[in-house]
Amino acid sequence: MEKADVAFCTLIFQAVEHISNILGPLLIVEFILFFLFIGLTLEKAFMSTHRIILGIETSCDETAAAVTSGGHTILSSVVWSQVATHHPYGGVVPELASRKHMEKIVPVVEKALADSGTDSNSIDGVAVTCGPGLVGALLVGLSFAKAFAYARGLPLTGVNHLHGHIAAVYLEPDPPPFPFVALLTSGGHTNLCYVAGPMKFEHMGQTRDDAAGEAFDKVAKILGLGYPGGMVIDQLSQQGDPDRIRFPRAFLDKTGFDFSFSGLKTAVARYIQGEKEGTLRIPDIAAGFQEAVVDVLVQKGISAAKAKSCQHLALVGGVASNRRLRERIKESAQEAGIAVHMPGPELCTDNAAMIAAMGYHQLRKRKNSSQPESAAGERWRTVLDLDAYSKTSHSGRLGVVR
Ligand code: ADP
Ligand code: MG
Repeated sequence: MEKADVAFCTLIFQAVEHISNILGPLLIVEFILFFLFIGLTLEKAFMSTHRIILGIETSCDETAAAVTSGGHTILSSVVWSQVATHHPYGGVVPELASRKHMEKIVPVVEKALADSGTDSNSIDGVAVTCGPGLVGALLVGLSFAKAFAYARGLPLTGVNHLHGHIAAVYLEPDPPPFPFVALLTSGGHTNLCYVAGPMKFEHMGQTRDDAAGEAFDKVAKILGLGYPGGMVIDQLSQQGDPDRIRFPRAFLDKTGFDFSFSGLKTAVARYIQGEKEGTLRIPDIAAGFQEAVVDVLVQKGISAAKAKSCQHLALVGGVASNRRLRERIKESAQEAGIAVHMPGPELCTDNAAMIAAMGYHQLRKRKNSSQPESAAGERWRTVLDLDAYSKTSHSGRLGVVR
């Protein structure tokens, strides 16, 4: 307690004592109740600030908006997928992605607001993905979010897409307690990270080349299964034998937590070239490939949790919706005495609820910080100088939010 606080408390105490001598003990009870009431009201007002967050996500090929409350409850979540647009090209075409985001951002946000049962006047803050991602696609979400926040005088925060993926577990009914280890596996990233607090991320390892989801997509293309490949390989593998073809498991023998999936993709391509066309059993190839990815992810994830003596492991990102991966990691975690937390598939792939969940913590931190007021005296005014690129986008590493 600071000197001024002690002096203030002493003054209050002396005043109460003085009044009680004059008016008797009944009044003391009334005074206590009065101060209790004031305290609770202030606490409630504090907690309600920045509770309702509008999240916006346009980093790749999903236009998404969501409204969350308190950083843990989803009031609405709308995801408009561009799969049909990019399907004929066998992958995401960045220019087309930007144009589709521009077309869809307004109706998607309007639907998210309508579904949430709130109107734009109830929003306390705006959170938007600021990277990593396709620059043109990010710019659409960022520009919209800046305009929305500026027009309403709301605070705005830029969220690192990878932090957003991890924050998807904060939306679960039973989120992991801190600290936990997160295995983030998506189309653009494969990372292992120690999460010490809602905004404290410590990098443990990452892929040296292709991400796991990228490998799924490329192998699906090699097998002529179309785009996006993860879901198709997942389904097709159910008809295949995962043990008939053994593909390489890169880096499994290494003690570190880095990954490599590009050799596995090449191994599948070589296998196909070496086989006679009539003898190819695509479901077996798909199942064998999937098993190799799953083996590496499960073993690295569990050993990362053990290395950090963590009893909780979170599995997040688009690939975390893979049926076989979910099954295998659950089994292995149980054997190791580790609790595994996996958001539902709709929260694993790109969405805006996870961005709002992360944004909630960032805005609260800003609100609680002892930053001096700006020259204009408007401490929580919209920040309009967000970069399209995140500071971490080039290395793909996860750092502490500042
Ligand atoms: P981004 O990489 O843009 O963050 P997502 O987090 O939405 O995107 O992840 C998309 C990736 O997840 C794609 O590579 C896709 O193939 C992969 N994926 C989606 N569902 C599955 C699945 N059931 N099994 C394996 N991979 C999947
Ligand atoms: Mg993603």
